[in-house]
Amino acid sequence: MNNRFYYLVFSLLFLLPLSGQNNFKTLPPPGSGAATSDLHDLEINPELLKMRQASATSNSGRLANVKFEPARLHLSSLPYTAGVKVFADKQNGQVFHLDGRPARLDKHFPDAEDARAYLNAVAKDLRLENPDQEVSLGEIRTDELGQTHVRLQQRYQGLTVEPADAFLHAGSSAGFDTYLGRLQATPAGVELTPTISEAEALAAARTSFGSEWKIIPESQLVFIGEPQEQSELIIYYHNDTPVLAYKLELHPNLANHRTRYVDARTGATLHELSHICGSAGLHASLPPETATVRNLNNELITLNTFSQDGQFFLFDVSRPMFRNLDGEAVGVIHTFDAGGQSPLNDGFDPTISSSVNNTDWSPTSVSVHDNAGLAYSYFLDKHERNSIDGIGGTVYSIYNVNNEDGTDMDNAFWGGRAMFYGNGDRAFQSLPRALDVAGHEMTHGVITSTADLVYELQPGAINESMADVFGYLIEGEANDHRLGEDVVNSQLFRTGALRNLRDPNNGGNRLGDRGWQPAHMNEFVVLPNNEDNDHGGVHINSGITNRAFYNFSTTTGVGDARAERVYYRALTEYLTRNSQFADLRIAVARAARDLFGAAIETAANDAFAAVGIGGEASEVEEDIETNTGDRFLLLTNTGRSALFLADEGGNLIENPLATVNILSRPSITDDGSAAYFVDDQNRLRVYDFVNRQLLFVEQNPGTIWRNIAVSKDGDRLAITTTDQDNKIFILDLVSNTFQEMTLTNPTTSQGGLSTDNVRYADIIEWEPGGEFLMYDALNFLDDGIEYWDIGFLRAWNNDTDNYGDGNITKLYSALEPGTSIGNPTFAKNSPYIIAFERLNSNNDEYTVVAANIERGETAVVWNNLRLGYPNYGVDDDRIIFDGELESGERILATVMMGDDKITTEGAPSVTIREGSWGIFFANGQRQLDTSIDGPVVDDPNVKVYPTLTEGMVTVEALGQEERSLQLFDATGRLVQRTAMSGARAEVRLSSLKAGTYFLAIPTNKGTVIRRVVRR
Ligand SMILES: [Zn+2]
Repeated sequence: MNNRFYYLVFSLLFLLPLSGQNNFKTLPPPGSGAATSDLHDLEINPELLKMRQASATSNSGRLANVKFEPARLHLSSLPYTAGVKVFADKQNGQVFHLDGRPARLDKHFPDAEDARAYLNAVAKDLRLENPDQEVSLGEIRTDELGQTHVRLQQRYQGLTVEPADAFLHAGSSAGFDTYLGRLQATPAGVELTPTISEAEALAAARTSFGSEWKIIPESQLVFIGEPQEQSELIIYYHNDTPVLAYKLELHPNLANHRTRYVDARTGATLHELSHICGSAGLHASLPPETATVRNLNNELITLNTFSQDGQFFLFDVSRPMFRNLDGEAVGVIHTFDAGGQSPLNDGFDPTISSSVNNTDWSPTSVSVHDNAGLAYSYFLDKHERNSIDGIGGTVYSIYNVNNEDGTDMDNAFWGGRAMFYGNGDRAFQSLPRALDVAGHEMTHGVITSTADLVYELQPGAINESMADVFGYLIEGEANDHRLGEDVVNSQLFRTGALRNLRDPNNGGNRLGDRGWQPAHMNEFVVLPNNEDNDHGGVHINSGITNRAFYNFSTTTGVGDARAERVYYRALTEYLTRNSQFADLRIAVARAARDLFGAAIETAANDAFAAVGIGGEASEVEEDIETNTGDRFLLLTNTGRSALFLADEGGNLIENPLATVNILSRPSITDDGSAAYFVDDQNRLRVYDFVNRQLLFVEQNPGTIWRNIAVSKDGDRLAITTTDQDNKIFILDLVSNTFQEMTLTNPTTSQGGLSTDNVRYADIIEWEPGGEFLMYDALNFLDDGIEYWDIGFLRAWNNDTDNYGDGNITKLYSALEPGTSIGNPTFAKNSPYIIAFERLNSNNDEYTVVAANIERGETAVVWNNLRLGYPNYGVDDDRIIFDGELESGERILATVMMGDDKITTEGAPSVTIREGSWGIFFANGQRQLDTSIDGPVVDDPNVKVYPTLTEGMVTVEALGQEERSLQLFDATGRLVQRTAMSGARAEVRLSSLKAGTYFLAIPTNKGTVIRRVVRR
């Protein structure tokens, strides 16, 4: 061991490939096979128990009680590009966000050349074979903030690929640094010759609508703004599989717009999108004139009209968008009277609203015309948007619209180019009365012209939510977050509102209660994607994102004035047709940062986290407080013949600490009192830092062991044998018992059927809470291929204080052929952050990777020349790993990490030459953390009484499921758990010291905290 210390940047030195390293692990051959029979003799060394007692008495508290639930955490896409943080959809692995500029790219002005370079650098992350051929670039546009954007259109063999929309963004002139959107993997192998003609596909479509299909007269095409039918041959991803398809744009009548995808080889309809918001979502150089008239709310307003030949018309030419194009008036607010006709019937022919005296306008016509002008003004004044289409297009509104059978229409809708208003029936009063309804519907028009979010599932819910948000903003009643409160029938909607941004539950308790929407992802409603089910609940799940807007806009320092600019920017610059809720969070946070900086970006992220978006398992978001003891680095030499102790910077303190041949990477208790490992005789060893001695774990050391990991609190050991079988033994030092657990592979990452194709586990590490073991294991497939992957084994159950059920969750549901992952390690203070490494056995590429498994974010830490065995620093501000210099000399290297703990800051530097297996630790005691489930909320329905007592406290809270009430003392230490099932429980305080305690009561909205005092 060289005990001089070098600090030098060696990023260039790692470029040489390393030969002769084609195994992910180098293990000795399997042992005799007699190992397991010796287990019955496993008897703990009494010296070790004495050591633990000495350590325990100095230990003021157990380790942080952090809830870690791997069943809800898994990753879907491995990162390939250094410098880029990868966000992938947990369901299908589709990468929807890349944050950062690839490290291998130099600064470059964000032009087409730079966009091409960026796409080529990240091609593997995006699963594109040839970005130059498969992605065409739209217009490169620099906005008023100096940021540059370019739309990406995916193509394959000359055909458009759908759904596939994405943008590259550049926050500065240093080049593109952000990808947001959803391109598909290269559709290799798709059949490209249609067997059905375009004409046949269109004819079949017309027929399928039956009598619903009406010929729209030429004169009325202005209301839809495009031909009645169009088609294009494309490649359509259907259930994640590419299919040659016709994309048909169909307007069966004025009130209907469908996009239908038809298989070009079978004629089958693959999918159909609807574009009409059934509004209310009820389930549902000419001289302008003015008139002073009353609207439906009996308010006196000034109306912009127009006169010609002694007649007046609802034709507003006073707006800045107005111009006279070749004698035709364009940029008009233009209002029509349907006179009770239905656009579903033949001959629908609304007339231009007119008056002979400019005073006898009906209140309905006044409200319609005025509201259209107000919505126009909102977008112009607040966002410099010139009309709904952004280019000064005429705004059409049609009122007095009835149902097909002539009855009153209980709805209002945006028909693609025009607003259609009914006069209300059962659920609503006359719909033109409500400005937020008009604002909502016209916002659908703005969305169609911008992000064009598809009207189904999560993109559809974002579409609805944006319409609600801007409907609220256009109405401009800052403290009234209700929607439709001016038109709903209060007999049907008990709160008097259709929806409520502040309180999406809106007086209801569940799906089906009128006006109820979910307020949090834990209430998300999964519905079939069809018309009868609101296209997957677009008017239902929008409640979750509505609440996120409310959270954001009411954050101190934000307010509506900032929030509306952020949302408009998110809608117009960052969202795409297929954006999901997770994409919306990124879009809003990014727009907030662009406009107002980091504090408002944080407010945006917090607003979404509070409704469970981007942090689906919000209960593990809590970090453990940092270990404040002295900091050390334990390491071995490259020959693994001794243990060494250094300080955090790599300066040796004990040279050596102990001379012993080491077979397994040591595992250290959280308080730094003991380091466990296996020696080269396959014996279990422990270095006792308290008494400075090296002990055997067993009374009579067995020679069958391969690996050992100690739980952070020191109470339990996990061990494997040289048998190389699929077993891990859990040894509880408290009860001095052990249990064997079998490793299997669940066939999906979330559990389900399992297979027994696991050979053996190698690296094992306990999560900080002490319940789960993270391990890597060698697996085999039937065709003889072997690969390593990472899983989580539930080895212990803190609630029962007994062995766990042995359930297994995998980090990835599938790995690419030739890819292995292994050597996982937890961050020291965030159980949802891990580092591990990837090996590509085809080219011997080793990569250290870091991941936030809760948010599904991954990043390349370092492309290495050998196995790195990464380990986080005490503050999680750095990762140490085994590396290699160009000269072949082996080193321990350290790279600094950013605040997110997964992206690097700068290049690695040499920490210790000829060192290996570096492990950072500290010797302080950590306080128990107040780890609670979900966000802290208040709920007046939760009752706790009496709050001052010597005996029992009664808790009443809605809910039937089994849950655990936690009692914390004033320092935040968990002192007691009480099971609660049903709506009532008793918590006993009599055994506790007098003082103040806090009771954490889980509810379906979050955790309610109540103070109680033990007399
Ligand atoms: Zn809508």
